[in-house]
Amino acid sequence: MTAPRTFHNFIAGRWEPPAAGQYLENINPANQEDRLGYFPASGPEDIQRAITAAAEAYRSWRLTPPPRRAEILFAAGNILKARKADFARDMTREMGKVLLEAGGDVQEAIDMLFFMAGEGRRLYGQTTTSELPDKLCMTTRVPLGVAGLITPWNFPMAIPSWKTAPALICGNTVVLKPAEDAPLSALNWAHALEEAGLPAGVFNLVMGDGEHAGAPLVRHPHTAIVSFTGSSEVGREVGREAAAQFKHCNLEMGGKNAILVLDDAPLELALEGAIWGGFGTSGQRCTASSRLIVAKGIYKRFLDGFLDQARRLRLGDGLDSGTQVGPVINAAQLEKIETYVRIGQQEGARLRLGGHRYIQGACARGWFFEPTVFAEVSPRMRIAQEEIFGPVVSVLPCEGLEDGLEMANGTGYGLSASIYTQNLNAALRAQRELAAGIVYINAPTIGAEVHLPFGGVKHSGNGHRESGLATLDVYSEWKTVYVDFSGRLQRAQIDT
Ligand code: NAD
Repeated sequence: MTAPRTFHNFIAGRWEPPAAGQYLENINPANQEDRLGYFPASGPEDIQRAITAAAEAYRSWRLTPPPRRAEILFAAGNILKARKADFARDMTREMGKVLLEAGGDVQEAIDMLFFMAGEGRRLYGQTTTSELPDKLCMTTRVPLGVAGLITPWNFPMAIPSWKTAPALICGNTVVLKPAEDAPLSALNWAHALEEAGLPAGVFNLVMGDGEHAGAPLVRHPHTAIVSFTGSSEVGREVGREAAAQFKHCNLEMGGKNAILVLDDAPLELALEGAIWGGFGTSGQRCTASSRLIVAKGIYKRFLDGFLDQARRLRLGDGLDSGTQVGPVINAAQLEKIETYVRIGQQEGARLRLGGHRYIQGACARGWFFEPTVFAEVSPRMRIAQEEIFGPVVSVLPCEGLEDGLEMANGTGYGLSASIYTQNLNAALRAQRELAAGIVYINAPTIGAEVHLPFGGVKHSGNGHRESGLATLDVYSEWKTVYVDFSGRLQRAQIDT
């Protein structure tokens, strides 16, 4: 265990202490005695400095040819590849997910850098016809300026990459405000970009909490883009603030994602998927499979199998190779989960597994919660409606496809959904009818790929998408160009 260090913000190409000299301690959720260091508790003054640096750097970065921007992203991707193991270890220590998943998180950042670097030679617009002779019409993507990025702790390198890479390739400059619970992964991300040769001020990192560092970044008149991932409650505030200034604003928020299991589902496959979707990252994924809606013909066999597998999950420090489920992020989250367990019991759901803090052996030093399963949950219960963000899964019986679809769609969220069935017609009906931004067939609700759009409907999003080519619309504006080479005034058709 190393002694705690003090870390700094990255502004205008320099590592600087926060103006007010305040820091937040970063603690390993698997072991509170393991302290990773002190990270800036920044405020409006630091945000102001970062935005000034980013606005200055924008003047030349927007004119840097995209293939040149891409070379730097490729270089950053290679740096991450070389350091993947170290960065994954840091991530597991600071936020608890098991090492294999932390490696996957870094891998997403690598994939996103390479994918967006490829866009450096594309960023395609359209060339099209004109209604008039001797006239050329086309569209190009143009950057907007400074992008303010606000990210959560559960994908502490992947999500910063989903936002930074497209912002940069489009020609914007960036101020990133990562989550206060996982600043080290954002710092590692910043180091990779710095070493890759990004000019000073193009990417800036300001650490701190939402109120003192996040809100000023959203409010500042010089952030042209606000890209937020986090809870729907905070997203609503961010969206309101950004809308008042007509900023580009994308909001990626919570979920209450359902797996629908029909009578003809391949049972073992569905069980394996439900365990992984429900308890992977200790249930702390926006796409976690927190509801299992199971047709009555298979309900008992499915529930028995699910309880059996959930009971055997091994909890522990994510750095230990045998661990399947790590801790939850902090003490407040542990309390929130306990509250929801009480709510579920009061509502009359049957608590079939878990329901308590897990304090055996070395886990007593961390924030662990037992894998928890509620059965006989009905759709209107709060545990079936609200995002818990922990290892708590609700199992709801349903009649079949129609009933199951209605339940799956019956929450305020709409991020990810899935169906297990061998019936092609049922699968295709479900992919059409599920009110979610992402639908899986015969796979759990988690497992996105960077070249496809990611995001949700209803309270899970605000109509934009992260990743895929769709994200380019967040980080650029369309410009339409008419070139008249007739040498005379040609009035448009509507004017003649
Ligand atoms: P959170 O909303 O508490 O915080 C997210 C970020 O917003 C943090 O950086 C925080 O400091 C900042 N913030 C807080 N208040 C702010 C304010 N007033 N102004 C500006 N910024 C502010 O969320 P969290 O606990 O870090 O993450 C968990 C949530 O994120 C869950 O709801 C989860 O579903 C969601 N999430 C969504 C996606 C997605 O892509 N849809 C992905 C991962 C996580």
